[in-house]
Amino acid sequence: MLPIPPLMLTTGPVPAYPQVLAALGRPILYDYDPAFQSFYADVIEKLRLALRQGTAPVIMQGEAILGIEAAAAALIGRDDVVLNLVSGVYGKGFANWAARYGKEVVELAVPYDDIIDPQAVREALRQRPDITIVSLCHHDTPSGTLNPLNEIGAVVAEHGAFLIVDAVSSFGGMDVHPREAHVDIFITSPSKCLGSTPGLSLISVSERAWAKIEANPDAPRGSFLSLLGWKGASEPGKPFPVTPSIAEIYALDAALDLYAGEGAENVWARHAETAEITRNGLLELGLKLWPKKLEFCAPTTTAFKLPDGFSDTALRDRLRDEHGILLSLGRADTAGKLLRIGHMGASAKPDFARAAITALSQILSRPLGQTHP
Ligand SMILES: *Cc1c(COP(=O)(O)O)cnc(C)c1O
Repeated sequence: MLPIPPLMLTTGPVPAYPQVLAALGRPILYDYDPAFQSFYADVIEKLRLALRQGTAPVIMQGEAILGIEAAAAALIGRDDVVLNLVSGVYGKGFANWAARYGKEVVELAVPYDDIIDPQAVREALRQRPDITIVSLCHHDTPSGTLNPLNEIGAVVAEHGAFLIVDAVSSFGGMDVHPREAHVDIFITSPSKCLGSTPGLSLISVSERAWAKIEANPDAPRGSFLSLLGWKGASEPGKPFPVTPSIAEIYALDAALDLYAGEGAENVWARHAETAEITRNGLLELGLKLWPKKLEFCAPTTTAFKLPDGFSDTALRDRLRDEHGILLSLGRADTAGKLLRIGHMGASAKPDFARAAITALSQILSRPLGQTHP
């Protein structure tokens, strides 16, 4: 038997909603059963509505990195020059795939407690008019920082380049949608703010991006990495390229119903409120937030610097062992420098934030309600 999990205030995977867990237990249908095919088409439509997109989204059958890598493989051709915007670990990581498929990768990087300035993007595009694709991680989770996507999207659209965005840990937790932000390929996940399980990539592709992908002879075809293979997979009679992860699709369906049922705006407000309580509580304890400015903080993750005398694992372990609360460590460049409190999906609850702050105050022996220098 698996142990009972602690209260997971992690940055993904997150605790799945009970309705999502129940959906995972539905009977497995045969993928060519017309009943499953019409159910699948319904899920695609629910996802399209959640994304507020015109084109039907694509679901790929693997955790979100699959979707990000597939987007790079499909869109970036051998003549493309990619401007990769880097404000954190995930943004940096995209360069590996961009370099594999494109002609050149130009990097615009800022320190990992900072965010990308849209004016700097405008300047980079002015200096290199040959840039054809721009890539951005919206919320770079290992830093808990949020990039100004809509403003950057407007700058990229003005230039005419394509825009690929990793919105894995922001979509569903705040007002972010591909069309408003001029995003050509928008990748997200069920296992962050939607409160479902890790196992699928959710991808929205613009009409013009589909046209570019279809014209790209190097875009994977007949491969597990093939975005094209899933295009129109929900249309009647179209075969799936491989068997969909049936149970994961059930779980996603339940998560999308919860999202629509609660109302997207209400879900975002719950995330924003939880984040605010978390930030205020940490500051009241005299702790320091990792992002350089308060307004850089994401509404779905709060990263804070380690208090004196604690390593990341020591503080994480005490929170887990003494209080049953699990936080996330940093990752790659931010590892060892911070801890992260996730408020995504079912864990975006003000009471959970208060529980985490109370636990921290006990470990640090700093009573709440007192100010610290
Ligand atoms: C969670 C996450 C992903 C998914 O990738 P993993 O590294 O496998 O968790 C991708 N991008 C971002 C920004 C994420 O937070």
